[in-house]
Amino acid sequence: MRNVPTTSRKPKAEEPKVTCPVCGATEKEKDYQPEIGMCSRCWWYLAPEAEGTDHGLFMLRIQIRDDQDGRRMAEIRPRGFWSGTIEVSEDILHSYNAETKEVEKNWNVRVSWGSGGTDGTLDDLRAAENFTRAMDHAVMLAKIWKMERKEGANTRRS
Ligand SMILES: [Zn+2]
Repeated sequence: MRNVPTTSRKPKAEEPKVTCPVCGATEKEKDYQPEIGMCSRCWWYLAPEAEGTDHGLFMLRIQIRDDQDGRRMAEIRPRGFWSGTIEVSEDILHSYNAETKEVEKNWNVRVSWGSGGTDGTLDDLRAAENFTRAMDHAVMLAKIWKMERKEGANTRRS
């Protein structure tokens, strides 16, 4: 609920913010943890347990699902964007083979993306460039994963 006095259009004093030394975006001072030396968005990728990597123009984090197939999912955050704008994910399509009477697994790798939104640290062209580089990396990763799964699929289950 907003209660703005009509006599004044002056905005409220902004909350103090801290500039992240890693990505250059700002974070509210009360959310920023100086002891980790980066904003919470960077920490999502670069925390030791996240095992993510900083590629300069973008950050990458790969998570593996805790199931028998170990499907992977990569989140990519181009620098200058709020969060994981690009995703690479593995999926399994099941199909029934009438000849062998077995359900076959077919691996599929998908690249998806959204605008994600920029955080205002870069101009639009730079942000677009980082997005493009991140997208190139996503496609490369997807091709590698697809190849790996194809090779794995050749070994029949006994
Ligand atoms: Zn940051």
